Amino acid sequence: ALQIIYAITPTYTRPVQKAELTRVAHAFRQVTRFHWIVVEDSTSRTELVTRFLRGCGVPYTHLNVYTPQRFKRKGMPRATEQRNLALTWLRQHRSHRDPGVVYFADDDNAYSLEVFEEMRDTRAVSVWPVGFAGGRTYERPLVSKGKVVGWYTGWRAGRPFAIDMAGFAVNLNVILANPQALFKRQGSKPGMQESDFLKQITKVSELEPKANNCTRVLVWHTRTENPHLAKEVKYIKDKDTVAV
Ligand code: UDP
Ligand code: MN
Repeated sequence: ALQIIYAITPTYTRPVQKAELTRVAHAFRQVTRFHWIVVEDSTSRTELVTRFLRGCGVPYTHLNVYTPQRFKRKGMPRATEQRNLALTWLRQHRSHRDPGVVYFADDDNAYSLEVFEEMRDTRAVSVWPVGFAGGRTYERPLVSKGKVVGWYTGWRAGRPFAIDMAGFAVNLNVILANPQALFKRQGSKPGMQESDFLKQITKVSELEPKANNCTRVLVWHTRTENPHLAKEVKYIKDKDTVAV
């Protein structure tokens, strides 16, 4: 049987949240053997996300953990606690008998269906390009003779793994075999989340290049512009229905 793809999505309350979740769910619901782990950055599971997930047509697990206020500052890595909670959930609820692939799928990206085909047979850790990352049209692993030998990027090229969160997937067995591997808060610099995590579980020489030797862009860090709401009467936190 195909390995199940576990997509971990941290998400937080803001005006575009439901629009973002709607867009990514439209890709995810077309992917077979897919399990969506949605982790809200909130003190409880919100009504909005609860209702959304019930109707989205994707098998899911709904979790929440609130980022401590002291970490909610500009320049601080985002969604560390949420990704770690999802990893803990997988370690508690899945075993070596459950073939799977783990992917960190932020809610502000655009996903092709092909990227899931590419990651499906990940044996340990697989990698591919990400559009609009690294200060360029794309950032990508450089591949020679089937091995990753470096990184094409416009930003902090000295990173051990110059790759965006959306550019790699990890076999569930690797997650289970390295129970201490987590995203770091302490001492983690912006843009180093991926490197700090990946160096706990793999080596550059062991990475499995996907997407035709990392020559095809199948996922994009699109990001969504904040809507102009200056004329809004008031901002209601958890709102997705109109007032009548
Ligand atoms: N996120 C979150 N809490 C926050 C900010 C972001 O859970 O306070 C989520 C967000 O929904 C996304 C992921 O964390 O899925 C990465 O956030 P973002 O895209 O804003 O970060 P960037 O790509 O700019 O590093
Ligand atoms: Mn983002």
